[in-house]
Amino acid sequence: MENPDVLVVGGGPVGLATAIGARRTGLRALVVEPRPGPIDKACGEGLMPGALAELDRLGVRPHGHPIAGISYHDGSHEAEHRFRGSPGLGVRRTELSRALHERAAESGVGVGAGRVVGVTQDARGVDAALADGSSIRCRWLVGCDGLHSGVRRLAGLEAAAPRGGAARRYGLRRHFRRAPWSDVVEVFWSGSAEIYVTPVDDELVGVAMLGPRGLVFADEIARIPLLAEFLRGAEPAGPLSGAGPLRQRVRAHASGRVLLVGDASGYLDALTGEGMRIGFAQAAAAVRAIAGTVDTPLAELSGWNAGVRAAASYEREWHRASGAANRFTAGLLLASQSPVRRMIVPTAERMPGLFSAAVEVIAR
Ligand SMILES: Cc1cc2nc3c(=O)[nH]c(=O)nc-3n(C[C@H](O)[C@H](O)[C@H](O)COP(=O)(O)OP(=O)(O)OC[C@H]3O[C@@H](n4cnc5c(N)ncnc54)[C@H](O)[C@@H]3O)c2cc1C
Repeated sequence: MENPDVLVVGGGPVGLATAIGARRTGLRALVVEPRPGPIDKACGEGLMPGALAELDRLGVRPHGHPIAGISYHDGSHEAEHRFRGSPGLGVRRTELSRALHERAAESGVGVGAGRVVGVTQDARGVDAALADGSSIRCRWLVGCDGLHSGVRRLAGLEAAAPRGGAARRYGLRRHFRRAPWSDVVEVFWSGSAEIYVTPVDDELVGVAMLGPRGLVFADEIARIPLLAEFLRGAEPAGPLSGAGPLRQRVRAHASGRVLLVGDASGYLDALTGEGMRIGFAQAAAAVRAIAGTVDTPLAELSGWNAGVRAAASYEREWHRASGAANRFTAGLLLASQSPVRRMIVPTAERMPGLFSAAVEVIAR
């Protein structure tokens, strides 16, 4: 492909969604990703209704298992909310990757193997250096390279990690061959971890857990008799995978012609399970910021101006796309790391209206 308008660094779900969205506005888009597809990742694999709606808008329709809502359990208490509108979908990450790649190819998105190791920009564009010594010139570079984003660091957008190990949380995930026993994502709250069970297929459930460093997967399951009983005799399907530390901070979400989208743009926690919904909303915001700027003749005349305008527009849109959900996640995270933790599920049970309203915030 000749020099792309938009170079997307990272072929995870948010990177591919960004590239497909960019193509839909007529921009030439190229994705570079070092790993061969379909790509897997430690994830709860629940696509909230809002994430599904955005994928549908892009023409991406993965196979999965419908999710009717979310339930919380702590052994003595439980609360359940069933989504008010359309359902969500539990989807294996490899299936999501397949469906996104298929749509990307149909849309004319270029996908190439490569790892970006250098980023420099000038008034008219960005040069990305690849690990094999080659480079790609583009007008806009979108960093969708995940939690440990190199683009974020290379563009000077990384902020210092929060102090203190207590705030550091990690994720683990494993699949089990077993028919789902519920049509909702079940979240089990133990003393220090949250365990998510997502139906992803007729004969497969994903079990993801979040908590401090050193979580032992089997021990955490054994601590929850109801869950241990459900999984008794179920064969693990695939390896145990992990991610973290989850919390990643940024100074800003864009610098000139370099924009950060998805986990690369800063991350709080997977506690509320809506990372992909927010990532897809940010992807759409980035495409709008770029397309809106490129189309302005004045911006074409002054390259730096275009970068500054797109960065400012994206910064505003990023907050619009992510703000409410991030505030909710921050509040729940704070409560979950305080003595209030043991009150979370009982409160959700006692106040179903509040629980429902909260789930609807993260769902759409
Ligand atoms: C335990 C856990 C459970 C979760 N559960 C859910 C859930 O149920 N629902 C939900 O919506 N979200 C969930 N999330 C969050 C979700 O997984 C992320 O928000 C989502 O994967 C973000 O997608 P992304 O494309 O931004 O990043 P990623 O999926 O991490 O993709 C980044 C890609 O960039 C590539 N890359 C990295 N460096 C470079 C480089 N230098 N050059 C080129 N490419 C590079 C990587 O190989 C990777 O493929 C969960 C997260 C965790 C940890």
